Amino acid sequence: MSFKSDIEIAQEAKLQDIREIAAKLNLTEEDIELYGKYKAKVDYNLLKKGNGQKKTKLILTTAINPTPAGEGKTTTTIGVADGLARLGKKTIVALREPSLGPVFGVKGGAAGGGYAQVVPMEDINLHFTGDFHAIGAANNLLAAMLDNHINHGNKLEIDNRKITWRRAMDMNDRQLRNLVNGMGGKGNGVVREDGFDITVASEVMAAFCLANDIVDLKGKLGDIIVAYTRDEKPVTAKDLNAHGAMAALLKDALKPNLVQTLEGTPAFVHGGPFANIAHGCNSVIATKMAMHFADYVVTEAGFGADLGAEKFLDIKCRKSDLKPDVVIIVATVRALKYNGGVAKDQLSQENLEALENGLPNLLKHVENITKVFKLPAVVAINRFPLDTEAELDLVRNKCKELGVNVALSEVWADGGAGGEELAKEVLRLAEQESQLEYAYSLDMAIAEKIKAIATKIYGADGVDFTPGALKEMNKLEKLGFGNLPICMAKTQYSLSDDASLLGRPKGFNITVRQIKVSAGAGFIVAITGEIMTMPGLPKVPAAERIDVDETGVITGLF
Ligand code: ADP
Ligand code: MG
Repeated sequence: MSFKSDIEIAQEAKLQDIREIAAKLNLTEEDIELYGKYKAKVDYNLLKKGNGQKKTKLILTTAINPTPAGEGKTTTTIGVADGLARLGKKTIVALREPSLGPVFGVKGGAAGGGYAQVVPMEDINLHFTGDFHAIGAANNLLAAMLDNHINHGNKLEIDNRKITWRRAMDMNDRQLRNLVNGMGGKGNGVVREDGFDITVASEVMAAFCLANDIVDLKGKLGDIIVAYTRDEKPVTAKDLNAHGAMAALLKDALKPNLVQTLEGTPAFVHGGPFANIAHGCNSVIATKMAMHFADYVVTEAGFGADLGAEKFLDIKCRKSDLKPDVVIIVATVRALKYNGGVAKDQLSQENLEALENGLPNLLKHVENITKVFKLPAVVAINRFPLDTEAELDLVRNKCKELGVNVALSEVWADGGAGGEELAKEVLRLAEQESQLEYAYSLDMAIAEKIKAIATKIYGADGVDFTPGALKEMNKLEKLGFGNLPICMAKTQYSLSDDASLLGRPKGFNITVRQIKVSAGAGFIVAITGEIMTMPGLPKVPAAERIDVDETGVITGLF
């Protein structure tokens, strides 16, 4: 079997002028700022104009634990939105902006796939409207002002060894992970250890994505802790008077970007925090804007439901008073077989036994959404070309036997038409009453909140804290950060903190090695294992295949 690549499909599409897409939302040319013919920014101040007491339905797409086989959350998010649009519903998609790191590294782009994509995919994947560069600039302005403060006498008495702020760039560049700078003697700064994170891992990105407007963002940026003094007092961006200029740099970036799906459904693509060190979903502003202008909004949370959906619900929804009406849990036959112990190169062969063995992973995620968070859920089986009827039937029948809602999604092959079955199920579930319950309440101690997530969501027996983590928790509670929500940084490949434990692991503890506060974003990060905040490129980076010709046509993106 041979298929057209994502970029071939995207380039064959006839795009509508972005003004026509805006018109579908009753937005005039006055309301939008054009970035060429097919992209526009939309002012979030439009949110202040009333939209009546409109009850927009929010649909969250999440998935089983990611595998090398790929799950297709973004593809499903876009396809089901096109399916809803085909059924006559006013629908908007809200997605994260892709980072250049993965685009040039292993994963490739993040604008969907097959016949369920947002376009222009080349622009969206290749630094788009420049938002991430603006976020990097804001991050680096803070770094420059911090070092400048130390250089000019260090009135705040910052301890050079307790600087937590790092520089940022939107690129996979391991060479910049750890460095010594400020060298060259007097007049060239103060020598210290430093390093870069990829922009999507910056706290500026997380704060940006949780902000309600520019004033709120400024406040959040001001609260960012950049260092500690010798006597452990936090030093913030506000102490350095950096937050105003940082927010000024982000004025335009904060406006959501409007694009379209291959079928002309409007899409807001805005913000893109990491799903480990941060919460992993598009900006609150984009979600709220989408809900302002549509009757149905479909959005995605990164990684699997144990990380992405948990943080979407416990952090983003709690902070911004959002609540999904339906949760779509994407599963694939291939990924379930992988969870059932099949090696990556054997996934194309029918294997009903392995498939059945992999199902408990899916069922645990379903249980989490329906029993812990108390939300209606539907399993979307994202059909891959080599899935057999017997395999698809097995997943469908098992779900039905257990009373789990399930629909086949063929959006990758057929676009919105392939998403209608799923869309109809979403419409049915969206009418059910539900009351979101969080996995923990904010007034619990930090350790108790982490234990609640580990036991309820991951299925762990308990949590072990390293002495360092215990000490830090103590310090943060004393500093008054005890009532923040928790942002878990854990491997996405397993429900546990051990990437090799597939399926539904039992009888394990997770180990929290490090605790830190993101005071600007407003959460406590609990780190299990090693978290990479500046990825590297693989031996053969995807960048080697990417090219552009004399007419400006880009090839090699996927
Ligand atoms: P996620 O959002 O879960 O990371 P994506 O939707 O970005 O996943 O999909 C990852 C890759 O898998 C994309 O290149 C996409 O084209 C491919 N893909 C997704 N669904 C299918 C499918 N049903 N058949 C074949 N390839 C698919
Ligand atoms: Mg995705």
